[in-house]
Amino acid sequence: GSGGERELCAPICCILGHVDAGKTKLLDCVRGTNVQKGEAGGITQQIGATYLPVENIRERAGLKPEVAIKVPGLLVIDTPGHESFSKMRSRGLSLCDIAVVVVDITRGLEKQTIESLHLLKRHDVRFIVALTKVDRLYGWKSCPNAPIVKALKSQSDDVQSEYKWRLTEVVTQFKENGFNTAPYYENKKMKQVFNIVPTSAIRGEGVPDLLLLLVRWVPEIMIEKLVYDNSVECTILEVNGDKDLGTTIDVVLINGALHQGDQAIVCTKQGPVTTIIRDLLTPHPMKELKAKGVYKHHKELRAVHGVKIVAPGLQHAMAGTSLIVVKPGDDLRQAEAAAMQQMNITISAADENEEGTAAEVSRVKTCKEGLYVQASSIGTLEAIIDHLQSSNVDIPVSDWNLGPVHKQDVVKAAAMLNRKEEYAAILAFDVKVMPEASVLAAESGVRIFMADTVYNLVDSYAEHINGLNE
Ligand code: GDP
Ligand code: MG
Repeated sequence: GSGGERELCAPICCILGHVDAGKTKLLDCVRGTNVQKGEAGGITQQIGATYLPVENIRERAGLKPEVAIKVPGLLVIDTPGHESFSKMRSRGLSLCDIAVVVVDITRGLEKQTIESLHLLKRHDVRFIVALTKVDRLYGWKSCPNAPIVKALKSQSDDVQSEYKWRLTEVVTQFKENGFNTAPYYENKKMKQVFNIVPTSAIRGEGVPDLLLLLVRWVPEIMIEKLVYDNSVECTILEVNGDKDLGTTIDVVLINGALHQGDQAIVCTKQGPVTTIIRDLLTPHPMKELKAKGVYKHHKELRAVHGVKIVAPGLQHAMAGTSLIVVKPGDDLRQAEAAAMQQMNITISAADENEEGTAAEVSRVKTCKEGLYVQASSIGTLEAIIDHLQSSNVDIPVSDWNLGPVHKQDVVKAAAMLNRKEEYAAILAFDVKVMPEASVLAAESGVRIFMADTVYNLVDSYAEHINGLNE
Protein backbone atom coordinates (compact mmCIF):
# COMPACT_ATOMS: atom_id res chain seq x y z
CA GLY A 1 0.00 0.00 0.00
CA SER A 2 1.01 3.67 -0.04
CA GLY A 3 3.96 4.19 2.26
CA GLY A 4 3.58 0.73 3.76
CA GLU A 5 7.11 -0.37 2.87
CA ARG A 6 8.87 2.86 3.69
CA GLU A 7 10.67 3.36 6.97
CA LEU A 8 8.76 5.71 9.23
CA CYS A 9 10.14 7.87 12.02
CA ALA A 10 8.58 8.26 15.44
CA PRO A 11 6.25 11.27 15.50
CA ILE A 12 7.53 14.16 17.61
CA CYS A 13 4.90 15.29 20.05
CA CYS A 14 4.95 18.44 22.10
CA ILE A 15 2.98 18.88 25.33
CA LEU A 16 1.50 22.31 25.90
CA GLY A 17 -0.92 23.93 28.30
CA HIS A 18 -1.35 26.31 31.19
CA VAL A 19 0.95 26.05 34.20
CA ASP A 20 -0.38 23.38 36.59
CA ALA A 21 -2.75 21.96 33.97
CA GLY A 22 -1.01 18.60 34.50
CA LYS A 23 1.42 18.28 31.57
CA THR A 24 4.35 16.81 33.48
CA LYS A 25 2.13 14.56 35.56
CA LEU A 26 0.48 13.17 32.45
CA LEU A 27 3.86 12.44 30.91
CA ASP A 28 4.97 10.88 34.20
CA CYS A 29 1.89 8.68 34.13
CA VAL A 30 2.70 7.50 30.61
CA ARG A 31 6.32 6.80 31.53
CA GLY A 32 5.71 5.50 35.01
CA THR A 33 8.21 7.99 36.50
CA ASN A 34 8.00 10.95 38.79
CA VAL A 35 9.72 13.97 37.28
CA GLN A 36 6.98 16.29 38.46
CA LYS A 37 7.82 15.79 42.14
CA GLY A 38 11.49 16.44 41.56
CA GLU A 39 11.04 19.77 39.76
CA ALA A 40 11.90 23.05 41.46
CA GLY A 41 8.62 24.67 42.42
CA GLY A 42 6.89 22.07 40.25
CA ILE A 43 7.71 24.20 37.20
CA THR A 44 9.36 22.58 34.21
CA GLN A 45 12.47 24.62 33.59
CA GLN A 46 13.81 23.11 30.42
CA ILE A 47 12.59 21.34 27.41
CA GLY A 48 12.91 17.65 28.11
CA ALA A 49 12.63 14.89 25.54
CA THR A 50 11.42 11.36 26.21
CA TYR A 51 11.46 8.49 23.74
CA LEU A 52 8.63 6.00 24.11
CA PRO A 53 9.40 2.81 22.13
CA VAL A 54 6.42 1.17 20.52
CA GLU A 55 6.66 -1.98 22.72
CA ASN A 56 6.24 0.17 25.83
CA ILE A 57 3.34 2.00 24.27
CA ARG A 58 1.69 -1.30 23.38
CA GLU A 59 2.05 -2.48 26.93
CA ARG A 60 0.90 0.82 28.41
CA ALA A 61 -2.13 0.96 26.10
CA GLY A 62 -2.97 -2.73 26.56
CA LEU A 63 -2.81 -3.41 22.82
CA LYS A 64 -3.48 -6.82 21.32
CA PRO A 65 -0.65 -8.22 19.17
CA GLU A 66 -2.81 -8.08 16.02
CA VAL A 67 -3.18 -4.29 16.26
CA ALA A 68 -0.60 -2.92 13.82
CA ILE A 69 1.47 0.14 14.58
CA LYS A 70 3.57 1.58 11.77
CA VAL A 71 5.84 3.89 13.74
CA PRO A 72 8.76 2.71 15.92
CA GLY A 73 7.76 4.90 18.86
CA LEU A 74 6.97 8.40 19.96
CA LEU A 75 9.25 11.25 20.99
CA VAL A 76 7.58 13.48 23.55
CA ILE A 77 8.79 16.97 24.35
CA ASP A 78 7.54 18.52 27.59
CA THR A 79 7.79 22.29 27.41
CA PRO A 80 7.76 24.73 30.28
CA GLY A 81 4.37 26.22 31.01
CA HIS A 82 5.15 29.42 32.80
CA GLU A 83 4.44 32.72 31.16
CA SER A 84 7.94 33.95 30.41
CA PHE A 85 8.78 30.65 28.78
CA SER A 86 6.66 31.43 25.76
CA LYS A 87 9.71 31.67 23.52
CA MET A 88 10.96 28.30 24.62
CA ARG A 89 7.56 26.85 23.94
CA SER A 90 7.71 28.30 20.49
CA ARG A 91 11.10 26.64 19.98
CA GLY A 92 9.86 23.24 21.12
CA LEU A 93 6.94 23.62 18.81
CA SER A 94 8.95 24.18 15.68
CA LEU A 95 10.18 20.56 15.95
CA CYS A 96 6.78 18.99 16.42
CA ASP A 97 4.55 16.88 14.24
CA ILE A 98 1.67 16.93 16.70
CA ALA A 99 0.85 18.62 19.99
CA VAL A 100 -1.07 17.53 23.05
CA VAL A 101 -2.80 20.49 24.66
CA VAL A 102 -3.45 19.68 28.30
CA VAL A 103 -6.59 21.25 29.79
CA ASP A 104 -7.64 20.82 33.42
CA ILE A 105 -11.31 19.76 33.29
CA THR A 106 -12.03 21.66 36.50
CA ARG A 107 -10.58 24.92 35.12
CA GLY A 108 -11.24 24.90 31.39
CA LEU A 109 -9.20 27.02 28.98
CA GLU A 110 -6.72 29.33 30.70
CA LYS A 111 -4.48 32.15 29.52
CA GLN A 112 -1.54 30.02 28.42
CA THR A 113 -3.81 27.39 26.90
CA ILE A 114 -5.16 30.05 24.59
CA GLU A 115 -1.66 31.38 23.91
CA SER A 116 -0.57 27.82 23.05
CA LEU A 117 -3.50 27.45 20.67
CA HIS A 118 -2.45 30.57 18.81
CA LEU A 119 1.14 29.34 18.64
CA LEU A 120 -0.08 26.03 17.22
CA LYS A 121 -2.18 27.80 14.64
CA ARG A 122 0.77 29.98 13.63
CA HIS A 123 3.08 26.96 13.27
CA ASP A 124 0.30 24.98 11.58
CA VAL A 125 0.61 22.11 14.08
CA ARG A 126 -2.40 19.87 14.68
CA PHE A 127 -3.26 18.96 18.25
CA ILE A 128 -5.12 16.58 20.52
CA VAL A 129 -6.70 17.93 23.70
CA ALA A 130 -6.05 15.92 26.86
CA LEU A 131 -8.90 16.98 29.12
CA THR A 132 -7.22 15.88 32.28
CA LYS A 133 -7.90 15.45 36.01
CA VAL A 134 -11.25 13.72 35.36
CA ASP A 135 -10.65 11.98 38.71
CA ARG A 136 -11.41 15.37 40.29
CA LEU A 137 -15.05 15.11 39.24
CA TYR A 138 -16.95 14.72 42.47
CA GLY A 139 -17.50 11.05 43.26
CA TRP A 140 -15.25 9.71 40.47
CA LYS A 141 -14.74 5.95 40.77
CA SER A 142 -11.23 5.08 39.76
CA CYS A 143 -10.70 2.56 36.95
CA PRO A 144 -6.91 2.25 36.67
CA ASN A 145 -5.60 2.61 33.10
CA ALA A 146 -9.02 1.93 31.61
CA PRO A 147 -10.04 3.21 28.19
CA ILE A 148 -12.07 6.34 28.85
CA VAL A 149 -15.41 5.14 27.46
CA LYS A 150 -15.27 2.16 29.79
CA ALA A 151 -14.27 4.36 32.75
CA LEU A 152 -17.10 6.79 32.04
CA LYS A 153 -19.66 3.99 31.83
CA SER A 154 -18.82 2.85 35.36
CA GLN A 155 -19.49 6.30 36.84
CA SER A 156 -22.67 7.32 38.68
CA ASP A 157 -25.30 9.49 36.95
CA ASP A 158 -24.10 12.51 38.92
CA VAL A 159 -20.50 12.10 37.79
CA GLN A 160 -21.62 11.53 34.21
CA SER A 161 -23.73 14.66 34.18
CA GLU A 162 -20.96 16.78 35.74
CA TYR A 163 -18.60 15.36 33.11
CA LYS A 164 -21.05 16.27 30.34
CA TRP A 165 -21.57 19.86 31.35
CA ARG A 166 -17.87 20.46 31.94
CA LEU A 167 -17.05 18.93 28.56
CA THR A 168 -19.68 21.09 26.85
CA GLU A 169 -18.21 24.14 28.56
CA VAL A 170 -14.73 23.34 27.25
CA VAL A 171 -16.01 22.65 23.72
CA THR A 172 -17.74 26.05 23.83
CA GLN A 173 -14.56 27.76 24.99
CA PHE A 174 -12.63 26.20 22.11
CA LYS A 175 -15.34 27.35 19.73
CA GLU A 176 -15.04 30.90 21.07
CA ASN A 177 -11.35 30.74 20.19
CA GLY A 178 -12.04 29.50 16.69
CA PHE A 179 -11.45 25.75 17.11
CA ASN A 180 -13.93 22.95 16.54
CA THR A 181 -13.44 20.14 19.03
CA ALA A 182 -15.29 16.96 20.00
CA PRO A 183 -14.66 14.02 22.31
CA TYR A 184 -12.72 11.65 20.11
CA TYR A 185 -15.07 8.71 20.69
CA GLU A 186 -17.85 10.73 19.02
CA ASN A 187 -15.69 12.54 16.46
CA LYS A 188 -16.77 11.59 12.95
CA LYS A 189 -14.64 14.23 11.21
CA MET A 190 -11.20 13.86 12.76
CA LYS A 191 -9.59 15.76 9.88
CA GLN A 192 -11.53 18.93 10.58
CA VAL A 193 -12.55 18.60 14.22
CA PHE A 194 -9.89 18.39 16.91
CA ASN A 195 -10.04 15.41 19.24
CA ILE A 196 -10.60 15.68 22.97
CA VAL A 197 -9.41 12.78 25.14
CA PRO A 198 -10.51 12.83 28.77
CA THR A 199 -7.68 11.58 31.01
CA SER A 200 -6.47 11.23 34.57
CA ALA A 201 -2.76 11.25 35.32
CA ILE A 202 -3.37 9.78 38.77
CA ARG A 203 -4.96 6.46 37.78
CA GLY A 204 -4.32 6.52 34.05
CA GLU A 205 -7.92 6.53 32.79
CA GLY A 206 -7.91 7.61 29.13
CA VAL A 207 -4.14 7.31 28.80
CA PRO A 208 -4.43 4.24 26.50
CA ASP A 209 -6.77 6.26 24.27
CA LEU A 210 -4.34 9.16 24.06
CA LEU A 211 -1.42 6.88 23.21
CA LEU A 212 -3.42 5.09 20.54
CA LEU A 213 -4.38 8.33 18.84
CA LEU A 214 -0.73 9.36 18.85
CA VAL A 215 0.71 6.18 17.36
CA ARG A 216 -2.16 5.11 15.09
CA TRP A 217 -4.13 8.16 14.01
CA VAL A 218 -1.20 10.60 13.74
CA PRO A 219 0.78 8.45 11.25
CA GLU A 220 -2.43 8.05 9.26
CA ILE A 221 -2.86 11.78 8.73
CA MET A 222 0.81 12.69 8.15
CA ILE A 223 2.54 9.66 6.72
CA GLU A 224 4.61 11.71 4.23
CA LYS A 225 5.99 13.86 7.01
CA LEU A 226 7.16 10.81 8.95
CA VAL A 227 9.03 9.01 6.15
CA TYR A 228 12.70 8.59 7.08
CA ASP A 229 14.99 10.93 5.18
CA ASN A 230 18.78 10.69 4.96
CA SER A 231 19.62 14.37 5.37
CA VAL A 232 20.58 15.11 8.95
CA GLU A 233 18.34 17.52 10.79
CA CYS A 234 19.26 17.94 14.43
CA THR A 235 18.28 20.65 16.89
CA ILE A 236 20.16 21.41 20.10
CA LEU A 237 17.90 21.52 23.14
CA GLU A 238 20.45 21.97 25.88
CA VAL A 239 24.17 22.30 26.53
CA ASN A 240 25.32 20.54 29.69
CA GLY A 241 28.43 20.03 31.73
CA ASP A 242 28.94 16.50 33.01
CA LYS A 243 31.60 15.47 35.52
CA ASP A 244 32.54 12.32 33.67
CA LEU A 245 31.64 13.13 30.10
CA GLY A 246 32.69 16.79 29.87
CA THR A 247 30.43 19.09 27.91
CA THR A 248 27.61 17.34 26.14
CA ILE A 249 24.68 18.53 24.09
CA ASP A 250 21.15 17.20 24.22
CA VAL A 251 19.63 17.20 20.77
CA VAL A 252 16.55 16.07 18.96
CA LEU A 253 17.54 14.10 15.87
CA ILE A 254 14.65 14.86 13.55
CA ASN A 255 16.00 13.34 10.35
CA GLY A 256 18.92 11.26 9.13
CA ALA A 257 21.51 9.37 11.14
CA LEU A 258 24.38 10.31 13.46
CA HIS A 259 27.51 8.17 13.91
CA GLN A 260 30.44 8.08 16.27
CA GLY A 261 33.29 9.73 14.39
CA ASP A 262 31.04 12.07 12.36
CA GLN A 263 32.47 15.52 11.81
CA ALA A 264 29.96 18.09 13.03
CA ILE A 265 29.65 21.85 13.34
CA VAL A 266 27.95 23.81 16.08
CA CYS A 267 27.39 27.55 16.19
CA THR A 268 28.79 29.62 19.02
CA LYS A 269 28.78 33.29 19.84
CA GLN A 270 32.41 33.35 18.69
CA GLY A 271 31.81 31.55 15.40
CA PRO A 272 31.51 27.99 14.11
CA VAL A 273 33.14 25.14 16.05
CA THR A 274 33.99 21.96 14.19
CA THR A 275 34.26 18.79 16.21
CA ILE A 276 34.13 15.00 15.99
CA ILE A 277 31.29 13.10 17.62
CA ARG A 278 32.82 10.82 20.27
CA ASP A 279 29.75 9.13 21.60
CA LEU A 280 26.00 9.03 21.17
CA LEU A 281 23.99 8.36 24.30
CA THR A 282 20.33 7.74 24.93
CA PRO A 283 18.66 7.41 28.29
CA HIS A 284 16.82 4.22 29.05
CA PRO A 285 13.51 4.01 27.20
CA MET A 286 10.72 5.99 28.85
CA LYS A 287 13.25 8.09 30.79
CA GLU A 288 13.79 11.70 30.11
CA LEU A 289 16.90 12.86 28.27
CA LYS A 290 17.83 15.24 31.07
CA ALA A 291 17.25 12.69 33.85
CA LYS A 292 20.50 11.58 35.42
CA GLY A 293 21.18 7.91 35.05
CA VAL A 294 22.82 5.26 33.01
CA TYR A 295 22.96 5.81 29.29
CA LYS A 296 23.05 3.46 26.37
CA HIS A 297 25.96 3.97 23.96
CA HIS A 298 25.37 3.89 20.22
CA LYS A 299 27.70 3.69 17.20
CA GLU A 300 24.86 4.89 15.03
CA LEU A 301 21.45 6.41 15.70
CA ARG A 302 18.71 6.96 13.20
CA ALA A 303 15.98 9.57 13.53
CA VAL A 304 13.84 10.17 15.51
CA HIS A 305 15.57 10.31 18.88
CA GLY A 306 16.48 12.48 21.80
CA VAL A 307 20.28 12.09 21.95
CA LYS A 308 23.07 13.22 24.22
CA ILE A 309 26.13 13.92 22.08
CA VAL A 310 29.62 13.74 23.57
CA ALA A 311 32.23 15.69 21.61
CA PRO A 312 35.06 18.09 22.41
CA GLY A 313 34.61 21.84 22.09
CA LEU A 314 30.87 21.99 22.67
CA GLN A 315 30.85 24.26 25.73
CA HIS A 316 29.74 27.31 23.74
CA ALA A 317 27.21 25.59 21.49
CA MET A 318 23.91 27.41 21.44
CA ALA A 319 20.72 25.70 22.48
CA GLY A 320 18.04 26.27 19.89
CA THR A 321 20.36 26.08 16.88
CA SER A 322 21.06 23.12 14.61
CA LEU A 323 24.00 20.76 14.65
CA ILE A 324 25.38 20.39 11.12
CA VAL A 325 27.01 17.13 10.04
CA VAL A 326 29.83 17.38 7.50
CA LYS A 327 29.69 14.56 4.96
CA PRO A 328 32.85 13.19 3.31
CA GLY A 329 33.50 15.40 0.30
CA ASP A 330 31.69 18.43 1.74
CA ASP A 331 33.64 21.66 1.73
CA LEU A 332 34.29 22.44 5.39
CA ARG A 333 34.42 26.23 4.97
CA GLN A 334 31.14 26.19 3.10
CA ALA A 335 29.54 23.96 5.70
CA GLU A 336 30.71 26.28 8.47
CA ALA A 337 29.34 29.29 6.65
CA ALA A 338 26.05 27.46 6.16
CA ALA A 339 26.00 26.57 9.84
CA MET A 340 26.44 30.18 10.89
CA GLN A 341 23.87 31.20 8.28
CA GLN A 342 21.21 29.03 9.87
CA MET A 343 22.08 30.62 13.20
CA ASN A 344 21.10 33.99 11.78
CA ILE A 345 17.52 32.89 12.13
CA THR A 346 17.97 32.91 15.89
CA ILE A 347 20.91 35.26 16.17
CA SER A 348 21.20 38.49 14.27
CA ALA A 349 24.51 40.28 13.91
CA ALA A 350 24.27 43.50 15.87
CA ASP A 351 25.87 46.11 13.66
CA GLU A 352 25.32 48.79 16.24
CA ASN A 353 27.38 46.77 18.71
CA GLU A 354 30.62 48.44 19.79
CA GLU A 355 32.90 45.69 18.52
CA GLY A 356 30.92 45.33 15.33
CA THR A 357 31.59 41.60 15.16
CA ALA A 358 29.76 40.25 18.16
CA ALA A 359 26.45 38.56 17.53
CA GLU A 360 23.38 39.32 19.54
CA VAL A 361 20.36 37.20 20.26
CA SER A 362 17.55 38.80 18.38
CA ARG A 363 15.24 40.60 20.78
CA VAL A 364 17.82 40.47 23.57
CA LYS A 365 18.62 44.15 23.94
CA THR A 366 21.90 44.90 25.63
CA CYS A 367 23.17 48.28 26.81
CA LYS A 368 26.53 49.58 27.98
CA GLU A 369 25.53 49.52 31.63
CA GLY A 370 23.73 46.51 32.98
CA LEU A 371 23.85 43.06 34.48
CA TYR A 372 25.60 40.00 33.11
CA VAL A 373 23.25 37.08 32.52
CA GLN A 374 24.37 33.51 32.10
CA ALA A 375 22.05 30.61 31.29
CA SER A 376 21.97 27.07 29.99
CA SER A 377 20.13 27.80 26.77
CA ILE A 378 18.89 30.64 24.61
CA GLY A 379 15.40 29.81 25.82
CA THR A 380 16.18 30.27 29.50
CA LEU A 381 18.33 33.31 28.69
CA GLU A 382 15.41 34.92 26.92
CA ALA A 383 13.12 34.02 29.79
CA ILE A 384 15.42 35.71 32.34
CA ILE A 385 15.90 38.82 30.23
CA ASP A 386 12.17 39.00 29.54
CA HIS A 387 11.50 38.84 33.22
CA LEU A 388 14.17 41.44 34.07
CA GLN A 389 12.79 43.87 31.54
CA SER A 390 9.11 43.30 32.06
CA SER A 391 9.27 43.77 35.83
CA ASN A 392 8.43 47.27 37.12
CA VAL A 393 12.10 47.98 37.72
CA ASP A 394 13.31 47.34 34.17
CA ILE A 395 16.80 46.07 34.88
CA PRO A 396 19.22 46.49 31.95
CA VAL A 397 21.55 43.77 30.66
CA SER A 398 25.04 44.56 29.36
CA ASP A 399 26.17 41.13 28.23
CA TRP A 400 25.28 37.44 28.34
CA ASN A 401 26.72 34.03 27.77
CA LEU A 402 25.59 30.42 27.68
CA GLY A 403 27.02 27.48 29.61
CA PRO A 404 29.13 27.34 32.79
CA VAL A 405 30.37 30.58 34.35
CA HIS A 406 34.11 30.88 33.62
CA LYS A 407 36.72 33.41 34.77
CA GLN A 408 36.26 35.43 31.56
CA ASP A 409 32.60 35.96 32.41
CA VAL A 410 33.54 37.38 35.80
CA VAL A 411 36.13 39.63 34.14
CA LYS A 412 33.45 40.98 31.81
CA ALA A 413 30.96 41.52 34.63
CA ALA A 414 33.69 43.24 36.69
CA ALA A 415 33.85 46.01 34.09
CA MET A 416 30.70 47.41 35.74
CA LEU A 417 32.55 47.96 39.04
CA ASN A 418 33.88 51.26 37.71
CA ARG A 419 30.74 52.23 35.81
CA LYS A 420 27.76 51.24 37.91
CA GLU A 421 28.63 49.01 40.82
CA GLU A 422 25.15 47.59 41.38
CA TYR A 423 25.36 45.99 37.93
CA ALA A 424 28.63 44.22 38.69
CA ALA A 425 26.73 40.97 39.08
CA ILE A 426 26.11 37.74 37.22
CA LEU A 427 22.65 36.23 37.20
CA ALA A 428 23.43 32.57 36.62
CA PHE A 429 20.63 30.16 35.87
CA ASP A 430 20.85 26.40 35.47
CA VAL A 431 24.62 26.56 34.92
CA LYS A 432 27.66 25.64 36.98
CA VAL A 433 30.05 28.25 38.35
CA MET A 434 33.65 27.11 37.87
CA PRO A 435 35.73 27.27 41.08
CA GLU A 436 38.22 29.79 39.62
CA ALA A 437 35.28 31.97 38.63
CA SER A 438 33.91 31.93 42.19
CA VAL A 439 37.31 32.84 43.60
CA LEU A 440 37.77 35.71 41.17
CA ALA A 441 34.23 36.96 41.82
CA ALA A 442 34.82 37.01 45.58
CA GLU A 443 38.15 38.80 45.15
CA SER A 444 36.91 41.40 42.71
CA GLY A 445 33.52 42.09 44.27
CA VAL A 446 31.34 40.69 41.49
CA ARG A 447 28.23 39.09 42.95
CA ILE A 448 26.94 35.86 41.47
CA PHE A 449 23.24 35.13 41.92
CA MET A 450 21.79 31.67 41.46
CA ALA A 451 18.32 30.23 42.09
CA ASP A 452 16.14 27.27 41.25
CA THR A 453 13.63 29.24 39.20
CA VAL A 454 13.88 32.28 36.94
CA TYR A 455 11.50 34.11 39.26
CA ASN A 456 13.55 33.50 42.38
CA LEU A 457 16.67 34.51 40.50
CA VAL A 458 15.33 37.89 39.49
CA ASP A 459 13.76 38.36 42.92
CA SER A 460 17.00 37.68 44.76
CA TYR A 461 18.78 40.30 42.65
CA ALA A 462 15.94 42.80 43.16
CA GLU A 463 16.08 42.20 46.92
CA HIS A 464 19.82 42.82 46.89
CA ILE A 465 19.32 46.13 45.07
CA ASN A 466 16.60 47.18 47.48
CA GLY A 467 18.96 46.37 50.34
CA LEU A 468 21.62 48.62 48.78
CA ASN A 469 19.17 51.48 48.40
CA GLU A 470 17.97 51.37 51.99
P1 GDP B 1 2.19 21.26 34.65
O1 GDP B 1 2.58 22.59 35.21
O2 GDP B 1 1.17 21.41 33.56
O3 GDP B 1 3.35 20.40 34.27
O4 GDP B 1 1.37 20.52 35.84
P2 GDP B 1 1.85 19.34 36.78
O5 GDP B 1 1.98 18.09 36.04
O6 GDP B 1 3.05 19.83 37.54
O7 GDP B 1 0.57 19.21 37.73
C1 GDP B 1 0.08 20.28 38.51
C2 GDP B 1 -0.65 19.76 39.72
O8 GDP B 1 -1.84 19.06 39.34
C3 GDP B 1 0.16 18.77 40.55
O9 GDP B 1 -0.09 19.01 41.91
C4 GDP B 1 -0.38 17.43 40.13
O10 GDP B 1 -0.24 16.44 41.13
C5 GDP B 1 -1.84 17.73 39.86
N1 GDP B 1 -2.40 16.83 38.81
C6 GDP B 1 -1.90 16.67 37.57
N2 GDP B 1 -2.64 15.79 36.88
C7 GDP B 1 -3.64 15.39 37.70
C8 GDP B 1 -4.75 14.48 37.55
O11 GDP B 1 -4.99 13.87 36.51
N3 GDP B 1 -5.57 14.33 38.64
C9 GDP B 1 -5.38 15.02 39.79
N4 GDP B 1 -6.24 14.83 40.80
N5 GDP B 1 -4.35 15.87 39.96
C10 GDP B 1 -3.49 16.07 38.93
MG1 MG C 1 5.43 20.76 34.06
